[in-house]
Amino acid sequence: MRKSAIIIGSGIGGLSTAIRLLSKGYDVKIYEKEKTIGGKTNQLVHGPFTFDLTASILLNRAIYEEVFTDANLNYRDYLEFLKVDPTYRCFYPDGVHYDFTRDLVSLIKTLESISTEDSIGYMKLLSEVYERYMIANDHFLQKTFENPIDFFKPSSIMNSFKTKAFSTSSQLISKYVKDEKLQKFLCYQSLYVGISPFEG
Ligand SMILES: Cc1cc2nc3c(=O)[nH]c(=O)nc-3n(C[C@H](O)[C@H](O)[C@H](O)COP(=O)(O)OP(=O)(O)OC[C@H]3O[C@@H](n4cnc5c(N)ncnc54)[C@H](O)[C@@H]3O)c2cc1C
Repeated sequence: MRKSAIIIGSGIGGLSTAIRLLSKGYDVKIYEKEKTIGGKTNQLVHGPFTFDLTASILLNRAIYEEVFTDANLNYRDYLEFLKVDPTYRCFYPDGVHYDFTRDLVSLIKTLESISTEDSIGYMKLLSEVYERYMIANDHFLQKTFENPIDFFKPSSIMNSFKTKAFSTSSQLISKYVKDEKLQKFLCYQSLYVGISPFEG
């Protein structure tokens, strides 16, 4: 008899899980409370304007590729990835705009146009965030924690302290970056994971 699975929600998470289960022979049913699938990746159309509800760029391409690989499919048969450059163009009320790009040399030019102090601060911030990310990736993001007790192992608790997850992103950013516009741009990123930059 085929095993069956029920998935609540058809966002990227639910759909990816459904694809993986289907490829393993499960009979899958997805329940979605909205009229359309896709969750946060949907768009809002208002007159001539179309707004991305949340996601507008693909941040971690490898994760999406993995879904196809797990289902024995080649993502190239379904998707074409396009490089977005600049990644962001931020407009501020005083008419100034900053371009943020994945190209480090161009990014440094933008940062130096703000101030040398902030340019150096940004690099220090990047280094600290990268270090924290590597700890989180190795010890939390890539683990399934099937048994809740695993989460409370001394090693997990030690590593959670190393990620310094108990301070707010606003506190971390303002430690390194003084320009208010740059601070606001950097704070915005924490909304991606549903966290207020001002709350722990
Ligand atoms: C402001 C913002 C910007 C972002 N920008 C990016 C970006 O540029 N690039 C990027 O890669 N990521 C971005 N993200 C993150 C990305 O949008 C999310 O990580 C991802 O869409 C979450 O997918 P999910 O399936 O976990 O949840 P969701 O997309 O929230 O899906 C959950 C689904 O479950 C449904 N549901 C909930 N409760 C029930 C219920 N009781 N019964 C039935 N259905 C239910 C909901 O309607 C929804 O369809 C952004 C996030 C935010 C908030």
